[in-house]
Amino acid sequence: MEAFEKGVEYFKSRRTQDQILTDIRTLKHELSHEIILLAHHYQQDEIVAIADIVGDSLKLAQEAAKIRNKKYIVFAGVHFMAESADILTPPDRVVLLPEPKAGCPLAEMADITEVESVWRTLKDQVDGKIIPVTYINSTAVIKAFVGRNGGTVCTSGNAGKIFDWALKQGDKILFLPDRYLGENTALAKGIPPELIYHLKGDMLNPVFQEDIHTAKVLLWDGYCSVHRRFKTEDVAHIRKKYPGVRVIVHPECSHDVVAQADDSGSTEKILRQVEQSKSGSVWAVGTEAHMVNRLQDMFPDKTILQLSNPGYQCVTMSMTTPEKLHHLLSELSKGHVIHQVRVKPDIARDAYTALNKMLDITG
Ligand code: SF4
Repeated sequence: MEAFEKGVEYFKSRRTQDQILTDIRTLKHELSHEIILLAHHYQQDEIVAIADIVGDSLKLAQEAAKIRNKKYIVFAGVHFMAESADILTPPDRVVLLPEPKAGCPLAEMADITEVESVWRTLKDQVDGKIIPVTYINSTAVIKAFVGRNGGTVCTSGNAGKIFDWALKQGDKILFLPDRYLGENTALAKGIPPELIYHLKGDMLNPVFQEDIHTAKVLLWDGYCSVHRRFKTEDVAHIRKKYPGVRVIVHPECSHDVVAQADDSGSTEKILRQVEQSKSGSVWAVGTEAHMVNRLQDMFPDKTILQLSNPGYQCVTMSMTTPEKLHHLLSELSKGHVIHQVRVKPDIARDAYTALNKMLDITG
């Protein structure tokens, strides 16, 4: 009897889910003259299936900048991505986030008060010109900070090029907020570990060690809570279980893991590598679990494994649900605009300078 009741409950909730998805499609169709839905690869499958454009943070920022004929950009992702879309689009575009609490823990690890305190102390105590560079996974105020101070933005795909540019402009890079992407990029450029300095401790009253003066790269102490979880033991285990497996990881993973993988790269690069590999290839992928599962659905002729079974989901990416998207669209259909993400004009101006410089450098 209990099993029967559970079965009834399951079918009721399944029917509700299916109905919500049908309603979303209807609302999207009704509003199609004025809305476009962008979704990050780490979103739930149901959201990705109905999105107009799917991509990583760089691709979505570039696509948002190209949108001309839609007033509302509905962004199924996290807060900093919606901010980038707002910064890169004209003022009459309205960017909406279905779940306003969906922030990125990594982006939030660089607090502007702490960053400015460190910056003042660095300028005061450390010789040489420092160029601030922030990963695109950062808040608009941090992008504005680097824009105001002669720096730029990078992505996991172009960080190497941006490091080359920054080290031609100055003597050191202050890299925010992801220490692993910064370290992986610096080591890949041939910068030895002794010239990579890890900022740690009380950032409001920073105390620097002697080796900061010779360092080339200064790393903020942030990390992605998803990618940091992969360990070298995961790589060893999967290689033992699947001899011949190709291991590819995101550069937000620790350097030990990147060093033991066959390749590393942005979400878009991972997608490309798997797509271009031979039928029958076996891959272990160290990135967010929704994305890895979807790769298997997209390429059924290949075997795609989670690097660490059963995989790690990004909690805040998963906060955007079909229910929340449905709520936002149904309010919009009644003329109510909810959950708009709007960056203050002075912040948007400086952040735009930083983002635009990245596009100039990388072409
Ligand atoms: S996967 Fe990592 S970097 Fe991406 S949104 Fe989640 S916490 Fe932020």
